[in-house]
Amino acid sequence: MNHDVIVLGAGLAGLACARDLAAGGADVLVLEARDRVGGRVEQTELPDGRLVQLGGEVVGLAHTAYIALTVELGLTLIPSYVAEPGTIARATPEGVSAGDPPHWFGLHDDACHQRVTTAFTALARTVDPDDPWCHPDAAALDRLSVGAWLRAEHATPAVVRLWEIGQLALASGSYERTSLLSALRKHAAVPGSDDRDGGHYSYEDWEGLRVAEGSATVALRMAAALGDRIRLGSPVESITVRPGACTVSLTGGESLSAGAVVSALPVGPLRSIPVTGVSDERLASLHRQRQAVAAKFAVAYDKPFWRESDLNGLSECEGVLGSTWPQNEGILSALIPPERYGVLLGMPEARREHELLTDIARLYGEEAHRPLNSYVRMWGTDPWTQGYVTQWTPGDVMAVGPLHGTHEPPFYVCGSDQWVAGYMEGAVRTGRAAAKEALRRG
Ligand SMILES: Cc1cc2nc3c(=O)[nH]c(=O)nc-3n(C[C@H](O)[C@H](O)[C@H](O)COP(=O)(O)OP(=O)(O)OC[C@H]3O[C@@H](n4cnc5c(N)ncnc54)[C@H](O)[C@@H]3O)c2cc1C
Repeated sequence: MNHDVIVLGAGLAGLACARDLAAGGADVLVLEARDRVGGRVEQTELPDGRLVQLGGEVVGLAHTAYIALTVELGLTLIPSYVAEPGTIARATPEGVSAGDPPHWFGLHDDACHQRVTTAFTALARTVDPDDPWCHPDAAALDRLSVGAWLRAEHATPAVVRLWEIGQLALASGSYERTSLLSALRKHAAVPGSDDRDGGHYSYEDWEGLRVAEGSATVALRMAAALGDRIRLGSPVESITVRPGACTVSLTGGESLSAGAVVSALPVGPLRSIPVTGVSDERLASLHRQRQAVAAKFAVAYDKPFWRESDLNGLSECEGVLGSTWPQNEGILSALIPPERYGVLLGMPEARREHELLTDIARLYGEEAHRPLNSYVRMWGTDPWTQGYVTQWTPGDVMAVGPLHGTHEPPFYVCGSDQWVAGYMEGAVRTGRAAAKEALRRG
């Protein structure tokens, strides 16, 4: 059967793209490997009706494409954990503390932290997020890790440790292995962060909101409207691109044809799909991208017991966990960053819950060991994801180059990896942009 456009992947990017293509009058088909839609957004319901998010969850005030989509879908955005009363907790091998400054800070560390934060945000203002390659020092900034830059700025070891624990809390990969240019680009991509004085990572801009009906409901609503234009259980095996006659082959041998193809696949799975008819430069750029691998731990309790200790459930940790935050009344989310993913993989599956709960108990007390339900989701080794969010190690921004996020009609790309730093915003933003471009070209 011949379609106008075949969209590969029914995550937020593929769904947002297909929705706009269908609204623009295109005959669109979405091919999805799994037996569900949503990709990295996934939710489950507890017997008491509370929803538990196992993947992407919060967005920020600066995530304009995602916010606009939720409004169109009739969903409600409410403040996320940032509205929780109480203070942040930090756990390191030598201690646990609540609030700022962290327990390893000495007399002059706070002033140093302010100074390097100001230097970072000032440097970020010199980077164009849409074209970081045009920066006069692009290659040099890309070669440097954020950790190396901090030390060059004479940041104290205590300050470097604070930046690092914050980065591992986000699970995007150590700052010792993150390109400075990519970090500056990410900061520059979120207009308004300086106004809100959010430092080098503003929680309000990146994480201040959540969808009251459940993050994965965004995907479910789009999928409901697309109906049988989505084919589940259809892993794509190869792609042939030819003007007016593209072919997509599925595992099992079936071939489908279309005038154009939109890849909304994560960069990991895409690497193992042969694509012919697309320039070597584009494929080299796409295949050079990488993801940080991470796992998510979601734990449901009958009540948010951490509040009794004036804690807000937000934490940064140097255990197996990188962070925790409250996702919903009585439900904690936690991330296992790439640097500690192997620890989780290497232990017997039956031990994982206990060891992760022990990390949580260190922060919030023994009640942590009495959850109603818990879920470990190993996204980093999920064959259809092979990651978590985009990671840019030193040299990657230049190596991926200005083809990042661009199209080679009739082959289009979208997906969170095609934005500056991943995230649900990246998926929606690039998905809608790809649809617009494909419709413009007819
Ligand atoms: C644990 C976790 C927590 C996160 N937290 C947040 C957060 O709080 N806020 C935020 O903004 N972002 C967060 N993210 C990131 C965000 O969820 C993702 O960036 C976004 O959902 C990705 O959407 P996508 O459509 O680009 O990719 P995906 O959602 O990965 O969709 C790609 C789709 O392609 C399918 N696919 C793969 N291979 C094939 C194939 N061969 N054939 C057919 N289909 C295929 C997959 O099954 C999948 O459905 C988180 C991610 C994870 C994993």
